[in-house]
Amino acid sequence: MNEQLDSQLSTLNSPLLRVDILTLFPDMCRAVMDESILGRAQKKGALAVYTHQIREYTLNKQKQVDDYPYGGGQGLIMNAQPIADCFRAVCDAAGERPHFIYMSPQGAVLTQRRARELAALPRIAVLCGHYEGVDERVLEALVDEQISIGDYVLTGGELPALVLLDCVARLVPGVLSEAECFTDESHFSGLLEYPQYTRPAVWEDRPVPEILLSGHHQNIRKWRREQSILRTAERRPDMLDSD
Ligand code: SAM
Repeated sequence: MNEQLDSQLSTLNSPLLRVDILTLFPDMCRAVMDESILGRAQKKGALAVYTHQIREYTLNKQKQVDDYPYGGGQGLIMNAQPIADCFRAVCDAAGERPHFIYMSPQGAVLTQRRARELAALPRIAVLCGHYEGVDERVLEALVDEQISIGDYVLTGGELPALVLLDCVARLVPGVLSEAECFTDESHFSGLLEYPQYTRPAVWEDRPVPEILLSGHHQNIRKWRREQSILRTAERRPDMLDSD
């Protein structure tokens, strides 16, 4: 455990990253963000996560958040007004405008590099769309960036937002313990991670590569580096081509 960082965090008045999620399904987001590593990170103060029900910002009695598309066509579009009012309330509550991201299959596809940049920001707000999407005008007026988690379409932005936030939050100092460190992992240095093994040393006639039992740290490091390069060349040659 990184005890020095843990004790520094406990004396901080504010977390290193504050996240606000604007959604029609806050319980779905809380269920994921409050569990396991991210839940512990909130308890020790490295991360703060707030969820906001967009429906609470509607001005109509039925609390309707969507309407038919102008020009015809299928499905419903989320109205601009409740989203804008919800975002403005988030800005007021936190006293500072967060970087505002809309999860969208039309956005730039998420990369580890972008996640690292976002992890260095103090505040992020994420809008989860639903139905056929969101009135374009609120995106033009307020959103700073659109992010996709891949070239496929899901029913709503909650799962994409949770993927993004899990990926970003684990890069914030103090969220992972030293034992869970991310610097050796796939994509951190432009390579896939080397193969990993744990006990027993032989499982169903399959032994662990002998070098890993040798205790020779320099040779193990060299072997792992070679395995990373081989594996990347085999599985993701495009990663070796890119700069
Ligand atoms: N009609 C939209 C289009 O064609 O671009 C797709 C709307 S999708 C059914 C509903 C919501 O799910 C979107 O507003 C977005 O928030 C989210 N979503 C779906 N797929 C996504 C992806 N690959 N990455 C990020 N968000 C996604």
